[in-house]
Amino acid sequence: MTTMYQHGTLANLVPGGFEGTMTLGELLTHGDTGIGTLEGLDGELVILDGVVYQVTATGTVNRPDADKTVPFANVHPADFEAVGTFSATGMAEASHRFEKAIASANRFAAVRLTGRFQSVTARAVKAQHAPYPSLVATAADQAVFTREDVEGTLIGYFAPTLYGGMAVPGFHLHFLAATHDFGGHVLDFGAVSGTLGVQTFADVQLHLPDTPAFLARNLDSPDVLDQIATAEGARN
Ligand SMILES: [Zn+2]
Repeated sequence: MTTMYQHGTLANLVPGGFEGTMTLGELLTHGDTGIGTLEGLDGELVILDGVVYQVTATGTVNRPDADKTVPFANVHPADFEAVGTFSATGMAEASHRFEKAIASANRFAAVRLTGRFQSVTARAVKAQHAPYPSLVATAADQAVFTREDVEGTLIGYFAPTLYGGMAVPGFHLHFLAATHDFGGHVLDFGAVSGTLGVQTFADVQLHLPDTPAFLARNLDSPDVLDQIATAEGARN
């Protein structure tokens, strides 16, 4: 069984814990596939086949250096179980079918869907600068892009509702176009046909930062899940 590795928590981002606390180089020692964000929430990361892609708020896709740092990321060694040919009328139906494919809502899982999408709407947060604002405030400072008729890969994770705060409850999906010139944190997509792989995890490793800022931060916000839902689903 493979282990899902997570650095940082969503809850730490809520009050503005955006300082980078692990290098990409170290992150990649725990997996070749995943999602995340860079220091300052500078764009959205898509990690495929050991390569890190950063989708920025200007819409460009970069390959950041290994010494760049993340406040939050998930990775795992790819060992997807092929579900086979997949089609859905849009994100709602696809999410329902992802849930069936991962078989249980009580474990963490990864999904990877490569195919042709009628449309994909994705967002990328603009780089924030210290002193950092709250996560909800950044939702008003993001770029939202839609591309029609696009081939690419949807990659992300399922977290049981129980672990909201550690992660985004439910699915947290990022996208990268096959042409490597479009992507981001997925807000919506249209009809899709492609190939689905799923990978479930009995083992999860949560690695927490040890910086003074993290250790001193008050993370006991009573409405942390509401704030995560507002920020992660937010659209302009
Ligand atoms: Zn995201």
